[in-house]
Amino acid sequence: MLGSMQDWPLVVPKILDHAACYHGEREMVTRSVEGPIVRTTYADLHSRSRRVAKALTRRGIRLGDRIATLAWNTARHFETWYGIMGIGAVCHTVNPRLFAEQIAYIINHAEDRLVFVDTTFIPTLEKIAKQIDRVEGYVILTDAANMPKTTLPNAVAFEDWLKDVDDDFEWAKFDENTAAGLCYTSGTTGNPKGVLYSHRSNVLHGLAVNTGDCVGAKSTDVFLPVVPMFHANAWATVFACPMVGAKMVMPGAKLDGPSVYELLEMEQVTITAAVPTVWQMLLAHMEANNLKLSTLRKVMIGGSACPPSMIETFEKKYGVEVMHAWGMTEMSPVGTIGSFKFGMEKLPWPEQLKVKSKQGRAMFTVEMKIVDDDGKDLPHDGKAFGHLMVRGPAIARAYFKGEGGRHGTDSIVDKDGWFDTGDIATLDELGFMQITDRAKDVIKSGGEWISSIDIENFAVGCPGVAQAAVIGVHHPKWDERPLLIIVRKPSADVTKEQVLKFLEGKIAKWWTPDDVAFVNEIPLTATGKIQKVALRTQFKDYKLPAAS
Ligand code: AMP
Repeated sequence: MLGSMQDWPLVVPKILDHAACYHGEREMVTRSVEGPIVRTTYADLHSRSRRVAKALTRRGIRLGDRIATLAWNTARHFETWYGIMGIGAVCHTVNPRLFAEQIAYIINHAEDRLVFVDTTFIPTLEKIAKQIDRVEGYVILTDAANMPKTTLPNAVAFEDWLKDVDDDFEWAKFDENTAAGLCYTSGTTGNPKGVLYSHRSNVLHGLAVNTGDCVGAKSTDVFLPVVPMFHANAWATVFACPMVGAKMVMPGAKLDGPSVYELLEMEQVTITAAVPTVWQMLLAHMEANNLKLSTLRKVMIGGSACPPSMIETFEKKYGVEVMHAWGMTEMSPVGTIGSFKFGMEKLPWPEQLKVKSKQGRAMFTVEMKIVDDDGKDLPHDGKAFGHLMVRGPAIARAYFKGEGGRHGTDSIVDKDGWFDTGDIATLDELGFMQITDRAKDVIKSGGEWISSIDIENFAVGCPGVAQAAVIGVHHPKWDERPLLIIVRKPSADVTKEQVLKFLEGKIAKWWTPDDVAFVNEIPLTATGKIQKVALRTQFKDYKLPAAS
């Protein structure tokens, strides 16, 4: 017997309808790419998104067509998203930090018909314009007064493109499983692969992220997503905030410490989200200038492991709750978040810090398990570590165009629907998960695994250390041993002996790195993660002292 409730499709435009109807006066504040702060409201955004939708329809864009954006977090980018999704076209967010060659590859692979682009990224596109000649036109996210000269064919300023179009437009009608967004991930080997979100998965994910134990934003909150919209939907905040009418503060092109600090204070931000490298810049700026945070209550940190020292600084020095989160593009992207269970807030601080340093618990809509190399379930005891598998309605079942499928199919999940995250993790009795490594980064010493993330987390807590990375280096007896690579803080002169001494007692003795190398820079990926592949290449002939 079927239930007899209404068929109300879970589609993205309904989110903005709700925001405009019940929170129409609530602001979105943007640091525009042109410079000035620009204020709009959900009512304005609703109206302008429908104008985008109408303009796209007039120009022949149809259900299922792919439209690319190369843009910062701004109101115009937001309107473009909702306009594209509102007609059932697919919003392909391109990460502008990728190499030009990769950008050309994914724009061609996605068969994007139009590209909406911030002025910042015009030079990148001009270089590859000939390679992406199937793109029919470029909409530059600015107005006529700020429109630069460009060699991009059929380029028009966004405000001109919208000029003759009013907002008398009804969102298109389509099934909730219709594709809404496309985001390429280069986490796996080979070419980047496209993750194709649906309207249903976006709405469900926005709802899940909004639960109280997760981000739990409210209408009274002011949310600053520093995490870019091109990094897996700005972690769903672009859906979660309008859903509840939270004010949004969009940082535009300026993600440095002083600029982020200025917005946090000026707009009285209560919740914010970004990768650890962003917070490193903010904390350094605050420390150097003896600044405080007056309204911020929660900071969501994920994308790579958040070092305990960063958690401690936010919580103890600035009184801001840290929500350590883990996820991946394939998961929409949030999988776990580290909010406390009943009674944990009464634990002594060192115990609390241990819990907060883990990547957190699965939120509803995410199932998790860990398995060994043979696929056998491992215990949830906080000790056994294995391949982390996930399942849920906002988790990819296949990549765009069926790439990377198993056994001649397009499916990237096993017969029971589990997706292998490529991460190695532990799960404890209370459901808290801790990532120990990417499967391909794990260090195998004498057949036993060493967690590079654990060592890195402690090493960045050592005075004088700005960044730390650990890779496995060939060793004649143990196969591999850990090498610790460090970037010193400006004017610090921390030595190998000091770092190794600092690690003593914090990690198992046999995990102690065999050597420490100091470098000026650690290469990062387009989403701010340590590029271990590049480091391994750089140090491939490295001779460990014990091995020589
Ligand atoms: P991406 O799809 O680019 O967001 O990358 C996803 C990967 O980033 C995950 O599979 C993890 O390896 C890593 N990652 C994300 N969040 C965390 C975290 N909090 N701690 C450790 N690794 C993380």
